Amino acid sequence: MSESLAAARSLPLTDLSEDERMFRDMVRDFAEKEVRPLVASMDQQAQIPPELIKKCFGLGVMGIEIPEAYGGSASTFFMAVLAVEELARVDASVAVCVDVQNTLVNNLLLRWGNDDQKKRYCPKLAESWVGAYALSEAGSGSDAFALACRATDRGDHFEITGRKLWITNAAEAELFVVMANVDPSKGYKGITTFLVERGTPGFAVGKKEDKLGIRASSTCELILEGCTVPRANVLGEVGKGYKIAIETLNEGRIGIGAQMVGVAQGAFEHALKYSQERQQFGHAIADFQGIQFQLAEMATELEAARLLTYNAARLRDAGAPFIKEAAMAKLFASRIAEHVTSKAIEIYGGNGFTREYPVEKYFRDQKVGQIYEGTSNMQLMVIAKQLLGKL
Ligand SMILES: Cc1cc2nc3c(=O)[nH]c(=O)nc-3n(C[C@H](O)[C@H](O)[C@H](O)COP(=O)(O)OP(=O)(O)OC[C@H]3O[C@@H](n4cnc5c(N)ncnc54)[C@H](O)[C@@H]3O)c2cc1C
Repeated sequence: MSESLAAARSLPLTDLSEDERMFRDMVRDFAEKEVRPLVASMDQQAQIPPELIKKCFGLGVMGIEIPEAYGGSASTFFMAVLAVEELARVDASVAVCVDVQNTLVNNLLLRWGNDDQKKRYCPKLAESWVGAYALSEAGSGSDAFALACRATDRGDHFEITGRKLWITNAAEAELFVVMANVDPSKGYKGITTFLVERGTPGFAVGKKEDKLGIRASSTCELILEGCTVPRANVLGEVGKGYKIAIETLNEGRIGIGAQMVGVAQGAFEHALKYSQERQQFGHAIADFQGIQFQLAEMATELEAARLLTYNAARLRDAGAPFIKEAAMAKLFASRIAEHVTSKAIEIYGGNGFTREYPVEKYFRDQKVGQIYEGTSNMQLMVIAKQLLGKL
């Protein structure tokens, strides 16, 4: 065990350093002042206003781990987790936009990009370009490596043809990380990662999904027809895209754990407040033990999910193994987010079931946590493989 990890373990997981606390407070303040007033209209209009995304860049939450030399905040993965949690406490759509940018797109560029690619894209991603991560297709979700998108080697460039589905941030993104197979005869070992700019010939963003939750987050199809991508935009090695995809998602799912903790926290805070205001039988409903016990259960579940998530993020930052812990964090946090948001609606009674009150949106927003970046069954598979040593 490294010395830094040993030192970190002597502290409570939720004990934040001065920098972490200041950053968390800054994001919380931003979420309250800039995001909260827009939550209902963003949900109705199914869009994050471009000005709000600009403000996220201005705040520095779109390039958290990007080095200062490239205009980023040169911070940790744990800070990205804090940002996602705080934003999701107010709005899960803004949170997932920031999450995909940091834990997937920036993360893989920093890890696998060469100097030229980092120089070309990191400053843009820190300053104004939204990124998207395109792995899933209509026929390949959980079985991601069965993807049908093909890339043909034309010497100085590749021609990519195929369709991607469910791509978060696609409506806003300028840079798309696209997985395509250069040699299907090699199976998953043909999968290669390409950096594709919006506006590349043969590339188009297609239909936007009309969703149950995280409605303001764009989720679109991508259409690639002979899309011409320069060889210089192959990320990592040809044929190593499967490794990039898996390893990025291993980390990314900690961010989804944080998103689910934030969603559950937001709903819980509303329920706690409402329970002290709503009068029945001549008392605030929080005076009844039946309600108190529900609040206590919710708070306990939240605490456990936060500890799992923080632990996974801190392990990742310490360079320690974290794959099992990350899958557990996402699995558990998405489950408790469903339970906590559902209970929040019950505490609101009939009011909770209407769109005039805030809790039904949290309930709708949480459901995707059990689906994207690997369904709950896929998390169970990851955990079981780790337990059984079948890696
Ligand atoms: C809002 C939203 C945003 C998304 N954003 C992105 C994105 O930005 N980029 C991207 O690439 N993808 C994205 N996705 C896609 C997402 O990752 C997939 O939806 C997810 O991986 C599940 O794939 P699927 O929908 O094809 O479901 P399927 O794989 O068809 O699964 C259906 C059901 O079968 C179960 N199942 C499948 N195989 C097994 C098995 N072997 N054992 C047990 N159970 C199994 C699953 O757990 C699930 O319950 C997004 C999806 C949504 C809904």
